[in-house]
Amino acid sequence: MKAIVFSTHGGPDVLKYTDAPDPAIRSNEVLVHVKACALNHLDLWVRRGIPGVPIPLPHIPGSDISGEIAQIGADVSTVHVGQKVVLAPLVSCGKCTACMAGLDNHCCQATNLGYMIDGGCAESVRAPEVNCLPYPENLSFEEAASIPLVFQTAWHMLLARAELQPGEDVLVLGVGSGVGSAAIQIAKFFGARVIATAGTDEKLQKAKQLGADYFINHKTQKIRDEVRRITNKRGVDVVFEHVGTATWDDSLASLAAGGRLVTCGATTGYDARVDLRFLFSRQLSLLGSYMGTKSELQTVMKLVAAGKLKPIVDRVFPLAEAAAAHAYLESSSQFGKVVLKV
Ligand SMILES: [Zn+2]
Repeated sequence: MKAIVFSTHGGPDVLKYTDAPDPAIRSNEVLVHVKACALNHLDLWVRRGIPGVPIPLPHIPGSDISGEIAQIGADVSTVHVGQKVVLAPLVSCGKCTACMAGLDNHCCQATNLGYMIDGGCAESVRAPEVNCLPYPENLSFEEAASIPLVFQTAWHMLLARAELQPGEDVLVLGVGSGVGSAAIQIAKFFGARVIATAGTDEKLQKAKQLGADYFINHKTQKIRDEVRRITNKRGVDVVFEHVGTATWDDSLASLAAGGRLVTCGATTGYDARVDLRFLFSRQLSLLGSYMGTKSELQTVMKLVAAGKLKPIVDRVFPLAEAAAAHAYLESSSQFGKVVLKV
């Protein structure tokens, strides 16, 4: 099959469009003919190399996959050949205490398609049967592939971790990202008031179309000052973080007393400072979040099929142009998802 493969870590130019062996499925797995694979910041980290994470090389990246089932293992019983499918990115052991409790994102063996195992930037990928999600028929393959990782991450952050309540104020940072555009929609669905930040007015205009209520251009305005002005000096109940070093101080300073900061990433760096006096006296909560559970993703898929949540596709590249797609994602000029079409 054709695939995007890298054999050393580095810049986008390490991504080669080349021949790779067809994946061999196990008895509990399916082989999917990939139609689209959406990119995530995770793909950039995996390609560059992550200290202490020995990614097997050569490697095929890509976590967010839609396609058609081409082959099923002997023990597979819930899906059939020819079925359209979206794949849940998180692959867990299915046997440990966390998995038994439905908390597969706490599984100590969990990884993502395209992370420690081969992913979907290829004509075919293998995945466990339990990762097959129902296909929302109202969506194209490119749209369908744009859902799983960012929507389950944003859902887990806002609901499971930050326990968002109707009427609360949420500051969503970096709304041009896939996870940011998902967060706006989920927060609005649950009746929150959303303050959106982005680096261009054009992105803020798109955030408005998704339902955001207030807008901060972080290139020309100071986030904490604008949040104080918008909330009449109170601050927000929840800060939705994924930017890291560049926004951390503003994020903390934007919290109301009793506020919760929830973070799933650090695209601008992972060094951050916390003034502990501020943390305890204002009774703040700092919450880490990683991916989401399969059960949460099933709920997301229902809401997508019902048209309540919409994947936002910024730009589609052919699979062979994965290097250009990575460079484009790294430039942060997108609003929504960058997708490879296979
Ligand atoms: Zn497990």
